[in-house]
Amino acid sequence: GASVVLFTADLRLRDHPPLRAALGRGRTVVPLFVRDDAVTAAGFAAPNRLAFLADCLRDLDAGLRERGGRLVVRSGDVVEQVCAVAAEADAGEVHLASDHSGYAHAREERLRRALEADGRRLRVHDAVVTVVPPGRLTPGGGGRDHFAVFTPYFRRWEKERPREPLAAPHTVQVPAEVRSEELPSRPSPGELSPGLPEGGETAGRRRLAGWLRGGLDQYEAEHDALGDDATSRLSPYLHFGAVSATEAVHRARQRGGAGAEAFVRQLAWRDFHHQVLAARPSAARADYRTRNDRWRTGPAVEREVAAWRAGRTGYPLVDAAMRQLAYEGWMHNRGRLLVASFLAKTLYADWRIGARHFLELLVDGDLANNQMNWQWAAGTGTDTRPNRVLNPVVQGRRFDPDGTYVRRWVPELAGLTGSRVHEPWRLPAGERARYDYPEPIVDLADGADRFRHARGLE
Ligand code: FAD
Repeated sequence: GASVVLFTADLRLRDHPPLRAALGRGRTVVPLFVRDDAVTAAGFAAPNRLAFLADCLRDLDAGLRERGGRLVVRSGDVVEQVCAVAAEADAGEVHLASDHSGYAHAREERLRRALEADGRRLRVHDAVVTVVPPGRLTPGGGGRDHFAVFTPYFRRWEKERPREPLAAPHTVQVPAEVRSEELPSRPSPGELSPGLPEGGETAGRRRLAGWLRGGLDQYEAEHDALGDDATSRLSPYLHFGAVSATEAVHRARQRGGAGAEAFVRQLAWRDFHHQVLAARPSAARADYRTRNDRWRTGPAVEREVAAWRAGRTGYPLVDAAMRQLAYEGWMHNRGRLLVASFLAKTLYADWRIGARHFLELLVDGDLANNQMNWQWAAGTGTDTRPNRVLNPVVQGRRFDPDGTYVRRWVPELAGLTGSRVHEPWRLPAGERARYDYPEPIVDLADGADRFRHARGLE
């Protein structure tokens, strides 16, 4: 009989342990993707990510066809569909990458039970989605099941030896009798951010190769410079598993140097947040560490949040970043940190509102990375300095000193040279009137005071 390989957040043919294991038996396989109703219903099917997903599935199907196979796509309840396909193919085993949200755990358990009831086996493979699987590293002592602080986690993570990346299979045989639906198509352009990247393993590998050749060496020096755009932009490929994080670590280390070290450290952040969410699935919604916040509610804060979403807060760096998000479905990490601090601390609005907006637009929108980074920025997560408030003017002088990033995304201010672009309110009234750009929606010092007061710090 055949084996089924259920693809989830691992949409690639290279470095794919479940596929390798299934083919290792010399059997035919059914490469399966299920468009899961539950994922759609939970609001994770945002158009930008659906477009990227459609690209990934098309590319996966093309890669399988080159090898004599094809991708089988079904939709509905994932457990019912996997069981139906396993029955059609008379498969004894189903292979799956382990994944770490509460939903993914529940899916795995339901699948295991349903398959066993039919006399089939579920085989779950670790270290496909992350480099080091959640739960492998624990602080020891006191029975703690995960690391709550990054630095000690990273010290241990660095010492792990990730497996060697696996090559893609040469041939894949898929039983003819298993039927497939059509591959999903991209949502219409009107629903999408105009500047979305192309999805898929082929595009991801091209980006990875270009990054290792042309970006990695400067990464340590330039990754925070907003105007330089000097990060890898691999995040959506990593989110969908079109590029393997394990392979990215290997290849960066082969190249070596300070840039490679800094880049590998960022990939460790990804694993770190996954192990927090795996141990505390409720942190996707509830405060990881409560600070007894009583977030503002009512029309005033709703108006301010609407301005934040629209990129019209009157703080050029905040607005630039929010407009980059709308246009590209992606935002530079420095921007993400700033706009999240601005929403949760300066405006003192519930971080979940901001996290939801991010998930509606981010092409790399990821439950572990998004929710845990939002909690970090709101001071309810794993930040060891939970009460610092980022100031958009100070951040602008540091990370966009000549104003390039602001002028790129806020064209109304493109006539302002240098760092003056960060403080349009300081312009002489006559000059200020020439720029059709909003006044600040909040006074930064007032916002910071309100936050510190609410947290009981003064
Ligand atoms: P690079 O700088 O090239 O880093 C390489 C890879 O390391 C990234 O692709 C990513 O996989 C990983 N990485 C880097 N920084 C982080 C981090 N802080 N946490 C976890 N992984 C990291 N990242 C997402 O992938 N999805 C999200 O939904 C997401 N939401 C975020 C929300 C907020 C409020 C903040 C502050 C950060 C968020 N991040 C998220 C983390 C980070 O901003 C992005 O991973 C990064 O900007 C992606 O760009 P890049 O691929 O060029 O990163």
